[in-house]
Amino acid sequence: MAMSCDHPDLLPLDEALRRLWEALPTPSLPEVRARRDDPALDRASMDGAALRAADGRAPRRVLGTLFAGGDPAAFLVTPGTAVRIMTGAAMPPGADAIVPVEQLQTEGSTTRPLIDPKPGDHVNARGVLARAGDLLLAEGTSINAARVALLAQEGLALPPSARIRVGVASTGDELVPDPAPHQIRDSNGPMLLALARTLGAEAELQAPLPDDPLALAQALRNSGGIRILLTSGGVSMGDHDHLPSVLKELGATLLFHRIRLKPGKPMLAALLGDLLVLGLPGNPVSAYLNALLFLPPALARLEGRAAPDPWQTGRLTAAVKQKGDRPLLHPCRRVEDRLEPLPGRGSADLVTLARADAFAWIEPPGQEAGAKVRYLTVL
Ligand code: AMP
Ligand code: MG
Repeated sequence: MAMSCDHPDLLPLDEALRRLWEALPTPSLPEVRARRDDPALDRASMDGAALRAADGRAPRRVLGTLFAGGDPAAFLVTPGTAVRIMTGAAMPPGADAIVPVEQLQTEGSTTRPLIDPKPGDHVNARGVLARAGDLLLAEGTSINAARVALLAQEGLALPPSARIRVGVASTGDELVPDPAPHQIRDSNGPMLLALARTLGAEAELQAPLPDDPLALAQALRNSGGIRILLTSGGVSMGDHDHLPSVLKELGATLLFHRIRLKPGKPMLAALLGDLLVLGLPGNPVSAYLNALLFLPPALARLEGRAAPDPWQTGRLTAAVKQKGDRPLLHPCRRVEDRLEPLPGRGSADLVTLARADAFAWIEPPGQEAGAKVRYLTVL
């Protein structure tokens, strides 16, 4: 009798991602408070003239120019005068409004507003963004570029910006540089190297490892300071699939092995001391998809960033049929939000992988033309 569920013991993808996220150490930001009012003085938010609004459209004699960073005490704006001012410069004493360049008529050293200025126009008032002592970031916040800028603004130590070092090692006796017909070249290694670099990691490609437990163990023990090792191959059920047992012998903590996904079921993740081993399946489409699913969150976590969400939503232009009930990632050509399914020829099909723009998530099995589905973009 056919089973209704093709592998009830397989871990759902979300659960595998959650385990990975929680197992990895992560830096976070300290509490950040404003050291001074922001802005610290009233400041021009446009290029124009700083003047007294009360004098309306009357012509003003231009006293000089204030640039961002210029000392505003150099000028005193009185009735009938103005100071040319650039965005970011502090307001000179006496002025209460900015009239933008576009709304000024200037001749020689006289300038005249073409509109009726109001007090506060185009002025970022002292303290509007924050008051000295205000809480700007709670302790333990994840790191992003805007928060790094905030730390820089407050003169605080910036988080370490070193790229995460990723090693790439393929496994398999069949991998040789100059293959006889019964052998192949290592295509996963260069693929994973390129992907890791695209994702901002400092990645290095190691020579393919033979299907030999001792060689595997040695490579894992001498990881040379890398934080993440992407292996491919050797994690399924074949006689030469040694990675799970070697990791076990080395005392690694297994995070998961075998997930509910097609292709990519044999996927493994383990921690060997500080080293995260992402044991990708050997078939190119499986290796690629699992790297695309697990490497970005691993990098984000180790760098202290928030969890990335790789999913977007589109519509299938044709039905996708499917055997079994594992969620399927199906290769597609994408035009805007329309996903045109490519012929599904399985997890060894590097040719189709190289043609695909996106992989549609097919669950429940078999989706009709027009179905709304989420998809991953090929990087
Ligand atoms: P494995 O997961 O080691 O059983 O490998 C599954 C399939 O992927 C086999 O057909 C392997 O020959 C192939 N394969 C494994 N590693 C690579 C690689 N680095 N490049 C291309 N194909 C590979
Ligand atoms: Mg193999």
